[in-house]
Amino acid sequence: MSSNKMLQQRIAIVGAGLGGLACAIALHKKGFNVEVYEKAQDFRPVGGGLGLLPNGLKSLNNIYPGIVEEIKNYGCHVQETVLKSTQNENIRTNPANRFDKYGFPLITVWWWRLQQILASKLPRNIIHLDRRCTGFSQDDKGVDIYFDGKETIRADLLIGADGIKSAVRANLIADGEPRFLKSMSWRAVIKCNQQVLNPDQMGFVRGHREFMYLLNVGDGDIAWLYRQQASDNSLSTNKDEAKSRVLDKIAEWGKPLRALVEATPSERILEGAICDRLPKDFWSKGRVTLLGDAAHPMAPAAAQGSNSTFEDAWVLAECLSNASNISEAFNNYEQRRIPRLKIIQTRSAKGEMHYYETESEKLEREKHEKPEEMTGEEFSDWLHNYQL
Ligand SMILES: Cc1cc2nc3c(=O)[nH]c(=O)nc-3n(C[C@H](O)[C@H](O)[C@H](O)COP(=O)(O)OP(=O)(O)OC[C@H]3O[C@@H](n4cnc5c(N)ncnc54)[C@H](O)[C@@H]3O)c2cc1C
Repeated sequence: MSSNKMLQQRIAIVGAGLGGLACAIALHKKGFNVEVYEKAQDFRPVGGGLGLLPNGLKSLNNIYPGIVEEIKNYGCHVQETVLKSTQNENIRTNPANRFDKYGFPLITVWWWRLQQILASKLPRNIIHLDRRCTGFSQDDKGVDIYFDGKETIRADLLIGADGIKSAVRANLIADGEPRFLKSMSWRAVIKCNQQVLNPDQMGFVRGHREFMYLLNVGDGDIAWLYRQQASDNSLSTNKDEAKSRVLDKIAEWGKPLRALVEATPSERILEGAICDRLPKDFWSKGRVTLLGDAAHPMAPAAAQGSNSTFEDAWVLAECLSNASNISEAFNNYEQRRIPRLKIIQTRSAKGEMHYYETESEKLEREKHEKPEEMTGEEFSDWLHNYQL
């Protein structure tokens, strides 16, 4: 099959999240016939705040040159990070220019705004909302993709970009539930009138086995992300209970930080267990492959979930356009991505646990532990200097 033949393949992507849309843009620009199927009925303002790093931004810039400037305008180009006490006192500030050497900055943005920016780069008629995928079956000639209450779609290949609870993965790999990392998360994005953070700062509040990130996400919105070590992953029965849980946990914190949570409408709060999966040796079978959280869910500790997903999106589109058949494309995709993702997933899981250590626990661990294969600085260089 020549590359031109590959271009005739009908590609279905399940999930119009960050990875599904980024991959759709890359494929559409290369001339592929691509359609995206999303379970949500509309693009509502949901999701939390994200930190976008040079490796993810470089991938997005390859996919759609100039998009990083647009994201910067809708989000925040972070100039300074600030470490705060739970009483909202600034302990230390650091310039964020350590990323400059990689050619892209640190940007904080709201998941939903980024989804909107990505969706705006695609013809509206290729995104199909209200399509909850329930599974697929494949044969020599194509893939049938099943949707809850909607007609089955036939495509030549299927990309599962349907997140950490992926229905495509459940059908393809069937490896059960993700692993709970003994960490719970509560987050929201709100309009913020009070001064907890300068407009170009990103904040980190360290408590005892708990912490909070504060992100400016543009347009006067602040994203707060509170996390706590927890052995119990049961969720609240309703949104008001979720809000009360956070307020109880930060009852001793300073007023400006408590006020942020108090001012958050309960329905905006996302409560969740932090989960990942152990790295896998394959992400594809036949005509079906995975991308993003569906392929390699990870703890947020290294802020690599969406950043590594954007790498996947670009590399998969490149592999599809350079190969002469599907199996060659998926083999190349896996060879280029899986070894790298193993390192990122493993490091992120460890990072998640280290977040909650006290100073003495950290020293004790470091005394007994073999040093990491890469120091923090080496990991950062390796991460951001990736050749796409
Ligand atoms: C607390 C927290 C903080 C984070 N912080 C960062 C950060 O700072 N930086 C970073 O890079 N990453 C971060 N992440 C991770 C990041 O959000 C994800 O890695 C990223 O969104 C993955 O993109 P995705 O497209 O694979 O999945 P998603 O963005 O989850 O999108 C999946 C899409 O598929 C749709 N879908 C799901 N099931 C179906 C179905 N059956 N049928 C059809 N559609 C379906 C969903 O509605 C959604 O639109 C964080 C995650 C958490 C939990």
